[in-house]
Amino acid sequence: MIETRGEKVDTLIIGSGFAGSSVARVLAERGHKVKIIEKRNHIGGNCYDEYDQYGVLVHKYGPHIFHTNNKEVYDFLSRFTKWYDYSHEVVGNVYGKIIPIPFNLNTLMIVFGEEKGQLLKQELIDTYGENARVPILELQKSDSVGIQEVAQYVYENIFLKYTMKQWNQKPEEVDQSVTARVPVLISYDNRYFQDTYQGLPLEGYTKLFENMLDHENIEIELNRDAKLDLTFDFDHHKIYYKNQEFTGQIIFTGAIDEFFDNQLGQLPYRSLRFDFEHYPEDYYQSKGVVNYTVSEDYTRITEFKYLTGQVIDGTTIIKEYPEVYKDNRQVPYYAILNSENIAMHQKYVDMVKPFSRFHLLGRLAQYKYYNIDGIVEEALALTKQL
Ligand code: UDP
Repeated sequence: MIETRGEKVDTLIIGSGFAGSSVARVLAERGHKVKIIEKRNHIGGNCYDEYDQYGVLVHKYGPHIFHTNNKEVYDFLSRFTKWYDYSHEVVGNVYGKIIPIPFNLNTLMIVFGEEKGQLLKQELIDTYGENARVPILELQKSDSVGIQEVAQYVYENIFLKYTMKQWNQKPEEVDQSVTARVPVLISYDNRYFQDTYQGLPLEGYTKLFENMLDHENIEIELNRDAKLDLTFDFDHHKIYYKNQEFTGQIIFTGAIDEFFDNQLGQLPYRSLRFDFEHYPEDYYQSKGVVNYTVSEDYTRITEFKYLTGQVIDGTTIIKEYPEVYKDNRQVPYYAILNSENIAMHQKYVDMVKPFSRFHLLGRLAQYKYYNIDGIVEEALALTKQL
């Protein structure tokens, strides 16, 4: 076993986002000596936030809004933060008209007017039920002329161009679960998420991570690519850390293809470029996020003050420009879910399967479109299994 701080490390965790950090904390509390190896110069993965030069708390890797129905996840994270009680609302800018997103009954009235809106509302309720959540691709299957009209509006003005920007594919070409994240809501609820628990860490995500990782059994090495320290012996199913056999658990949360030098192929991802802008005004826009669903090259503008509740002069916004992921100078934000890519990922899973103490966890390692709560849920499940 390797020694750090004079103690024997029995668990290695690659990556310090929600996946790695959650596992680290639980195992540390069980008495394990945990070492986290983090490639970046900071903890927290893509949820990392920091104060910009104007003093505004910003999410460096794009907006992250916590929401969950899972009380265990909520309770676990609540040990490390208090919450700013924020219910996320998004509006779309459709040729200058501002409409609530997800498309809901308020949107229906704005778009079709009260009179026609009421008729369509009744038809939607009769067909799907009150408070139903209907994916756009589902709505399109309706035979009703009225519902078809709604579906066509939603498809063309909310999904088509935004999805083309985000994925360079049409809504019907991306995995159905992707557009189903933003269903048509048969209710007057303007919130983006309907989950029981939602909010942002009161002092920011980075602070949450600092609290979570502040444990005597956790050691963190930043600025270190674990690939340089780990060697796999495929003949004998042994893993070496710094040339010594490592027999403890290893939780890997990075990009598995890159880790193994793309030997089984490079997994496709979508990346993003962010433009931050600061304005000497109280607010730039009317809601935390405005989606540009029919125009502009960016998909959305996020104004952080809404999300964080920070009271400060001036405001900082971020514009998101989707781009092709070429290599690791970019960040692989989104897995591109289709059968071919999932099959390629599965080959990596099969390749590491004989190493029974090597676990893949998180958005990258599992090549999944996880929300924060999904990752923490998986992390907690893994700790129960270990
Ligand atoms: N989407 C869209 N228009 C919108 C919002 C979402 O077309 O106004 C589609 C788009 O394909 C997007 C997906 O729904 O990638 C999921 O949206 P979500 O807001 O959940 O994306 P995330 O916040 O994870 O980037």
